[in-house]
Amino acid sequence: MSDTLPLIRLRGISKVYGEGATALWALKGVNLDIEAGDFVAIMGPSGSGKSTAMNIMGGLDTPTAGQFLFQGVHVESLTRDQRARLRRRFFGFVFQGFNLLARTSAQENVELPLLYRGESASARRTAAARALDAVGLKGWEHHKPSQLSGGQQQRVAIARAMVSEPAVLLADEPTGNLDTHRSREIMELLWRLNADKGITILMVTHEPDMAAYARRMVRFVDGMVDSDTRNEHPVGLQEAEADTAAAPTLAVQVR
Ligand code: ADP
Repeated sequence: MSDTLPLIRLRGISKVYGEGATALWALKGVNLDIEAGDFVAIMGPSGSGKSTAMNIMGGLDTPTAGQFLFQGVHVESLTRDQRARLRRRFFGFVFQGFNLLARTSAQENVELPLLYRGESASARRTAAARALDAVGLKGWEHHKPSQLSGGQQQRVAIARAMVSEPAVLLADEPTGNLDTHRSREIMELLWRLNADKGITILMVTHEPDMAAYARRMVRFVDGMVDSDTRNEHPVGLQEAEADTAAAPTLAVQVR
């Protein structure tokens, strides 16, 4: 057995809402290891515990029982303040509804996490501009969310999640509000963040087409992990290989 711990380890994680006769077991003893650099799609029927598990792994909520180790640290034993610090330092969040401040420019939305961290105005500006550039929104810095498409708004949300350079990106149905074309663009962006920058991604999705970009699929049923499979040919990899293969042909055609 290896003595190096994975980035994330869940052991016997349970979560109970309510008490006594009305107690509801949202998670029933979940064991899960996630290595740094993985890209995991979390799937399963509605009510199976996906969001509850994501909230615990993102340090937003605490388990009723069990252990959650992040880089070997027992997160379940941390105080609320310590958990908040851990979140700000290591985690970025992207949600289905974008959750941008409506009357605030793309640039200012992306600067927010850095403002909470007390960084200077010039450092915030530089980092936010770079993050917006990385998600393909150079030139859109001063637009407000209402002046952007759904796909562009989700890119701003991803830039905001990435600006503090998190180790883990947690995305809860990031393409749930987008059409197929824009969903694919977002998935390609997430794929690149994982493949090029090594960001660990945990993504809840209902859509098999979007889960196909992930390297691993964990399926929850009734508060438990029902299956856990590797995807040796994620869509992003196939596209990257197709690009590489296509390049010499193109060069020949140009000449
Ligand atoms: P999923 O994300 O797979 O749809 P959830 O993790 O949201 O599932 O929910 C799992 C179960 O826990 C569901 O039965 C849900 O109704 C219940 N649940 C989730 N959050 C709460 C809460 N804050 N209070 C009470 N029950 C909850």
